[in-house]
Amino acid sequence: MKKDLINEMNLRIPALSVNEGYARYAVSSFASQLDPTLEEIADIRTVVSEAVTNSIIHGYREVKGDVFISVKYYNDRTVKITIRDKGCGIADIEKATEPFYTGDPAGERGGMGFTIMSSFTDKMKIKSILGKGTTVTLEKRLHKNVTRG
Ligand code: ATP
Ligand code: MG
Repeated sequence: MKKDLINEMNLRIPALSVNEGYARYAVSSFASQLDPTLEEIADIRTVVSEAVTNSIIHGYREVKGDVFISVKYYNDRTVKITIRDKGCGIADIEKATEPFYTGDPAGERGGMGFTIMSSFTDKMKIKSILGKGTTVTLEKRLHKNVTRG
């Protein structure tokens, strides 16, 4: 069955650490229209945090730029979250997604962001072009809502 788009939002914010909390709040509050469980909303907050933080600290590192966030939800209760930056890009996506791998030159990160994103969602897709930027798409299907159908 073809799924139909019900609602969507788009957000563009400067890549500043101070905006990470806002991005997390904006996405989770939009997704709340689907009446998610507390656990589902916690998962959404976490994955948005991880992806936006990556764009800010790795994608743009020392340079300025914007982070583009889009959220769509469909009639099968799938929420699709896209986090995009026009930063440095990822040279080797397979390596970047390995647990505990970090490309952080200072070695101060845990290297668990992508592992968390993929385990807290149903689908994770990464597209990246060196020097052009990175797009991470995360899909999560929410529980069936029995009370409101
Ligand atoms: P943690 O998320 O645990 O703090 P981390 O950010 O290093 O550590 P991941 O989130 O799994 O770990 O990312 C792995 C690596 O992929 C990063 O260290 C970085 O080199 C690269 N990376 C991730 N997102 C981006 C991005 N948006 N732009 C450029 N490189 C990225
Ligand atoms: Mg990370």
